[in-house]
Amino acid sequence: MGALHGADADIGDLADVVTRFIAERLTRSPLGRTASATDMRVALDGAITSGGLGAAQAWSLFTDEVMANTIGIDSERFLAFIPVSPAAAAAWVDAVVGTTSVPAESWLEASGAVAAENQVLAMLAGLAGMPDGAGGCFMSGGSIGNLSALAVACDQRPDRRIVAVADTAHASIGNTLRLLGLTALTVPTGTDGRFAGNALAEAARGRTDIGIVVGSAGSTNAGLIDDLDGLADVADSLDAWFHVDGAYGAATLLLPEFAERLRGIGRADSFIVDPHKWLFAPAGSCALVYRHPALAAAVHAQHGPYIDVFRSDGDEWNPADFGYQLTRRATGLALWFALVLHGTDAFAAAIRRGVELARYAAAAISGAGPHVSLVIEPELSVVLFRRKDWDRAAWSSWARRLLDDGIAFVAPTTWRGEPVGRLVFMHPLTSTSLIDEIIDTLR
Ligand SMILES: *Cc1c(COP(=O)(O)O)cnc(C)c1O
Repeated sequence: MGALHGADADIGDLADVVTRFIAERLTRSPLGRTASATDMRVALDGAITSGGLGAAQAWSLFTDEVMANTIGIDSERFLAFIPVSPAAAAAWVDAVVGTTSVPAESWLEASGAVAAENQVLAMLAGLAGMPDGAGGCFMSGGSIGNLSALAVACDQRPDRRIVAVADTAHASIGNTLRLLGLTALTVPTGTDGRFAGNALAEAARGRTDIGIVVGSAGSTNAGLIDDLDGLADVADSLDAWFHVDGAYGAATLLLPEFAERLRGIGRADSFIVDPHKWLFAPAGSCALVYRHPALAAAVHAQHGPYIDVFRSDGDEWNPADFGYQLTRRATGLALWFALVLHGTDAFAAAIRRGVELARYAAAAISGAGPHVSLVIEPELSVVLFRRKDWDRAAWSSWARRLLDDGIAFVAPTTWRGEPVGRLVFMHPLTSTSLIDEIIDTLR
């Protein structure tokens, strides 16, 4: 029986093999493929045995079956959903975070990691224009970040159970409202696809039951930033909690040219941004920031004789107090390290590249001929477009063909009831020639 731990751990040359795998992956990520359930059952049949298969065989199964049948969301050819394109430095340090299980729930256990994570949160809060004292924690993703923030909002406005949201709000907001027993007042976005202050004012006229307003700093489907300043005005007048879901788009806080578009985000009571989206951290990271973190601690701090030890002397900041998660990876450390290594200018340039690629694609679609057209001018890095005479089935077979041909992973979507094409650009190495190639397939 092989040893699991220590110098005698029975892992063959896994250390070298895995290091090489990571290094290669960070040079070039394959697009991957999706297998059928039957194929996967056969491929993995008998993998878990009483005696173990040993390092070599286990690693082959892992690479040849598990990884090979997994889409490379970090590939420069992954243009669906919201991709994850980790910076090399972030990915390497995330491997260390995973290896060491940095116990980042409390200052007592992880003062170094928590201080570094808080430095990033303070930077983000500062860029947003929030006052000193704003703060929060890193969580595992935007969905749990939205849930955690809205649980605090709900606690602050216990008698008003209506939440004003746009028809473009992310699916996690709907689920959050259901979990918290809140009810959505869904406000239609205008022709420009944005949730506007005057539309909110109109929907709220005469109502006294709205306790929360949720805006988006980058809607997921079309990548459009809501009228945050206008929403903040109305939220103020309603005395409602204002939450900004910036999971995807609030990364543009790093771009001065987006400052005007994002105006109002600093007036929020809470906002989120996912480092695993446009801040180039590996999957599993959301930055959650509150204007008044103490309000969050009153909701989320877990108590018990085995936990309250956190809160003895030297208690500076316990990330677990600010969201619905106790044991946690230090999911902000990879971003912190990459920021320290590269500086914010390199991040800004990489984010800006996504915006430029979207504009390139939009221009190319507009010039490609009468069979294709833009749905709406891109603002962030999402491009929506029409193809004459294509129904949902035609879009699906197009997406399947691009994947089977190893060109790209794309996912069509729906815009106001109409099936349309969608491309999302996050990986700074996606080439304009790939974009041309994809647009060519729309003929
Ligand atoms: C992706 C996304 C979320 C959900 O984040 P996860 O990290 O996938 O849980 C929430 N809101 C917006 C706007 C998003 O784009």
